Amino acid sequence: MNIGTLKRKIFKSIKSHDEIVIARHIGPDPDAIASTTALKESIKATFKNKKVYAIGKGISRFKYFGELDKVDEEKLKNPLLIVLDVPNISRIDGIDFKKYKDIIKIDHHPFEDKMGNIEWIDDKASSVCQMIAELIFDTNLKLPKKTAENLFMGIVSDSERFSLSYTSAKTFLLVSKLLEYSKIDIISLYNNLYMRPFSEIRFQGFIATHLNVTENNFAYLKISKEDILEYGVDISTPSNLVNNFNYIKEILAWALVIYDEKNELFKVNIRSRGPIINQVASKYNGGGHPLASGARIKNEADVNNLFAELDEECKKYNENRKI
Ligand code: AMP
Repeated sequence: MNIGTLKRKIFKSIKSHDEIVIARHIGPDPDAIASTTALKESIKATFKNKKVYAIGKGISRFKYFGELDKVDEEKLKNPLLIVLDVPNISRIDGIDFKKYKDIIKIDHHPFEDKMGNIEWIDDKASSVCQMIAELIFDTNLKLPKKTAENLFMGIVSDSERFSLSYTSAKTFLLVSKLLEYSKIDIISLYNNLYMRPFSEIRFQGFIATHLNVTENNFAYLKISKEDILEYGVDISTPSNLVNNFNYIKEILAWALVIYDEKNELFKVNIRSRGPIINQVASKYNGGGHPLASGARIKNEADVNNLFAELDEECKKYNENRKI
């Protein structure tokens, strides 16, 4: 289906439902939370009488994106489910997927599970926030200031300040329109996104000092509970820092691992500036984008196997570059 038709279909479906639930992936990042709250505010500004719920577990450091909702799914009548920023049903946060008949998926990950009759997948989009901005500008959806602010932050964050490969002319065009149509104060938004305690910077220094770098340019570090305690950070901190190891000459792909005691598994953040990593991650209960993936692994032997495979990908990548 042509993209214009698809966007019109999404708008029509939103228009025809009185109750709408918007969901995204577990362990949300700014793009996931910002896209759900931005779309919710836009729908509510456009259609005053609709009930719209942006759901999923809240994260205190992302409070500035706005309130998340609780919904009693038993009480909903023929609701529309809009799934954002997640390709697989098993990773949608906070809903009973079977309860929904009308489902729209809007996502920028490579396709995995078919969810509904309307699926808009653009795996070349910098972020889902970019896609929501495109949807708003190309339909009759309104753009309240809060929506513009959240979309701006989601795009900036997921494109790593316009430094990642899917940053395109369309990205800049849409950001330019967001700034033009809604007088947002970007400095206060950067304060939200980038202000951090000094402990995090010290911890980044610790990671930089201890990263193991192989001869194939793969870098990895297993972070222990003691390291976390010593630096006064928490187990989500490696995720906040992993993107900062891009554009380092000696490193092509890199992985940070931490053991999550509560869920009894190793959480792995993987990034690359060349070798494709999501296919390797998917063998280890993981997945994601070609150059930004994650995995959740039960035993340490598999963490080591994952490292070995990523190292091998770097080796192949280097060999191909020499030819
Ligand atoms: P993260 O390293 O957690 O920031 O995740 C990077 C990308 O990989 C995001 O697009 C996530 O949605 C995806 N991802 C992370 N963990 C998993 C997983 N266990 N399974 C599938 N995709 C994942």
